[in-house]
Amino acid sequence: MKTTTSCLKVLILGAPQVGKSALTVRFLTKRFIGEYSSGTDCTYQTMFRYEDAALKVEIVDSASNSVTNNNKTKEIEADAIVIVYSIVDRQSLKQAQDLLDQVTEKAPFNTPVLLLGNKTDLEHRRQVSHDDVILMTHQYQCRHCEVSVAESYTAVDRPMQELLTEALLNRRL
Ligand code: GDP
Repeated sequence: MKTTTSCLKVLILGAPQVGKSALTVRFLTKRFIGEYSSGTDCTYQTMFRYEDAALKVEIVDSASNSVTNNNKTKEIEADAIVIVYSIVDRQSLKQAQDLLDQVTEKAPFNTPVLLLGNKTDLEHRRQVSHDDVILMTHQYQCRHCEVSVAESYTAVDRPMQELLTEALLNRRL
């Protein structure tokens, strides 16, 4: 297996309390940990294996609800972006849409974006309609999935692996 020195950067964005930290830790450790002290960006490193290559991945669990830390002129520096909303928080979908607007404006056009709805274990409290989200994914041409970070590791791992694969293939173009 070839280990390359280049690194893929993944940015995790979304409204507060939607489960960004839970998602990041679930993906990295397979474990669900209930409570996190948010407030600052946290950066983690892991390895991504694809075919015969192994690549470093840097995951930034962003505490800010802006793609470029409020610097309006800067371009987004990321190879892939995950925008998280909570299916039980309609406002979080609005914030996700704001973030999609910022990404459209500031990221290279082929940056893969995953719009991830969390907390499907709370289906009985759903505030976000499937139709609204489908409209958004068509409008922004992004990937989409809904998961329960609390309940399933594989449901989180699969779309993340697909996103990383797309980011890696972009690098090779
Ligand atoms: P962040 O502010 O977006 O990073 O959100 P956190 O990861 O800190 O999670 C906020 C709260 O949502 C915590 O109380 C988590 O335990 C909870 N949470 C995260 N994922 C899930 C989930 O899939 N289902 C449920 N019911 N709660 C979750």
